[in-house]
Amino acid sequence: MIEMTRRQLMAGGASALAAALIRPRGAASQRTSAGPADPQLIEDLVAANRILVDQGVLDGYGHVSVRHDRDPNRFLMSRSLAPELVTAADIMEYDLDAEPVDARGRSSYLERFIHGEIYRARPDVRAVVHDHSPSVIPFGVTGAPLRPLYHMSAFLAAGVPVFDIRAAAGGDTDMLVRTPALGRALAQALGPRPVALMRGHGAVVVGPSLPVVVFRSVYTEMNARLQAQAMALGGPVTYLSPGEAQQAEAGVAGTVGRPWELWKQRVRRNP
Ligand code: MN
Repeated sequence: MIEMTRRQLMAGGASALAAALIRPRGAASQRTSAGPADPQLIEDLVAANRILVDQGVLDGYGHVSVRHDRDPNRFLMSRSLAPELVTAADIMEYDLDAEPVDARGRSSYLERFIHGEIYRARPDVRAVVHDHSPSVIPFGVTGAPLRPLYHMSAFLAAGVPVFDIRAAAGGDTDMLVRTPALGRALAQALGPRPVALMRGHGAVVVGPSLPVVVFRSVYTEMNARLQAQAMALGGPVTYLSPGEAQQAEAGVAGTVGRPWELWKQRVRRNP
């Protein structure tokens, strides 16, 4: 727990530094490596991939990334691969245009622009998940807002916007965020919040660290499932008040390391 707190404090300081260092779009970017990332960070990124599958957030699709610990203009993400199969050797370094620094023939996820454009727009963000989390899909297509109905998902109280790719693209698409412009539009829809839904597609979840973004991804899926059940029972649903959400989020914040260690061990036991 103490370890977690220290890491979070460091992440907070780093995000202030990152805000001053992140290059605006179009600024010259030398595509040289920021150098080897912290091996612990790589290990956590591999674990995050497997945990998100184990917890039913990712399947054969979706991805998770983390900002490089040496350069806020770089992030780390697997080559195009089903998340459950990701190992340290599959992790690649990307610049914020979502171009690989040294692809060496490896292919990249089509929707990598989601990550690059969010890291550019949000200096506070150090980890990003894009998923097709099944229970959130109905909330992206019905106009029923996803809202926090229990303490574990209090972070949803900031509101969960729905990104409509048809509006962003000005017409029909294949639904994928496969260009920098669509990535920017999604980052804009997300704004300062932790979660945005993508109509007819999935969600994007962001956070200040891998444990937090994994926690938020798991409990966004869980809240969506529980909210649909509560709505199906009929009658008005009582959601957390803004004050309850604020206190609950603060209360849970110091304990995120507990499920993270559990989930990590579980994927280690089942390699
Ligand atoms: Mn997708």
